[in-house]
Amino acid sequence: MKFSFYNTLTRQKEELKPLKPKKIDIFVCGPTVYDLAHIGHGRVFVIFDAVVKTLRHSGYNVRYLQNITDVDDKIIARAELQGKTPKALAHKFEHEYLKDMKALNITSPDNYARASDHIDEILSQIKRLLKKDCAYITPNGVYFSVKNFHDYGKLSHQKLDKMEETERIEHDPDKKHKQDFALWKKAKAGEPFWPSPWGKGRPGWHIEDTAIAEKYFGQQYDMHGGALDLIFPHHECEIAQMETISNKKPYVRMWLHAGFLNVRGEKMSKSLGNIISIRDLLKDYSAQAFRMLIFQAHYRSPIDYDEDLMKQAQAAQERLTDFYNRLKTIKRFGPENDRIKSIIFTSNKNFWEKLEDDFNTPRAIAIIFSLMKTLNPLINNFAISKREAKAAKEFLKNADGIMHILGPKQTSSIPQEVKNLINERELMRKERRWTEADQSRKELAQIGWTIEDTPEGPKPKRIE
Ligand SMILES: [Zn+2]
Repeated sequence: MKFSFYNTLTRQKEELKPLKPKKIDIFVCGPTVYDLAHIGHGRVFVIFDAVVKTLRHSGYNVRYLQNITDVDDKIIARAELQGKTPKALAHKFEHEYLKDMKALNITSPDNYARASDHIDEILSQIKRLLKKDCAYITPNGVYFSVKNFHDYGKLSHQKLDKMEETERIEHDPDKKHKQDFALWKKAKAGEPFWPSPWGKGRPGWHIEDTAIAEKYFGQQYDMHGGALDLIFPHHECEIAQMETISNKKPYVRMWLHAGFLNVRGEKMSKSLGNIISIRDLLKDYSAQAFRMLIFQAHYRSPIDYDEDLMKQAQAAQERLTDFYNRLKTIKRFGPENDRIKSIIFTSNKNFWEKLEDDFNTPRAIAIIFSLMKTLNPLINNFAISKREAKAAKEFLKNADGIMHILGPKQTSSIPQEVKNLINERELMRKERRWTEADQSRKELAQIGWTIEDTPEGPKPKRIE
């Protein structure tokens, strides 16, 4: 199977060509653990979870590595505010992060590597950069000299003299170029530190990723993922560091970036007070419904989150779950039908092909819905054969193995299809069209529901 993805580095869709046959090494930037992860983070990690699961489904041997940024200015600032040590704060939110990942059914990473566990690897990289004269020491720490790396800007497609200024690059009057970024930061009083040849301090953000990746993957690997806002400066800096150290290009073959998730048209931010944590979202909606919302958009497109969109995703997710449950509980089968068999076969094939083509999840999901439309009436009329029901069930099960959009079994809520049939039946009863009303009752029974007529009106119940 051939996969293609849009590569940020080359700005085009490219076939995935692993360095070693059938093996993929992928690194995705993990969280900075100073607070609960929000649904924007959730989107990124769900996307890469599914990308990795899809590659594995196709027979690739994937190693999926994520870093945990547990040494960082934000952690130090938040810890001080809460009267905790940075270490205790980071430890707590790392734990919460892993809990959220589990709740979202994110099970694909092989290794979560903490920055604080890789200080030796980080020091080794900084030493090599200094030796190559691509870094220099100031009273505040060690900086990478961007002027010494001629490709600086190739990922974000910017020229050095026109590069955007961002708060993510340290300000220091002793820097040689305003775009030079920190490799090592000297500790101020009260800050956490590790010893180094350049004084007590802590690593810069970008060097963590390259040091960790070099340890587990070597100096070049296949794929690197993250959110769109990590392209510059973070991933640009990673390339500068590692290609300087190794003299091998490209550092990473395929750079994948996931689109933003905004809330009601605005970027989530503390000042706007519109941050929705994964924890809070999962109080109201299932992980499966959230994953449906994510996959209904292309991974590179923005999502503008609001309750209506979430409810639509939930309704879609419930419809599919109901369809899957019906396939599992068919009581009576019809004769085999080669046309239906071929529709199921083609749907399955097209589903995976859509994912291989720049991971087009909305198109892939549309294929499942279209199959549902074809098969539901057959199930209603006991016209689907055992063989076809089994094939459809297996297709859905495999698709769900990467998407996790089916279930949990709805016990309290009533599927829209059932509500429609009940309303129809009520209308017919009012118009005294008894035969038709009875037909609606039969249709309900076919999809596993019965009606109890009570003084408060009809009450649907699942047939157990
Ligand atoms: Zn990173």
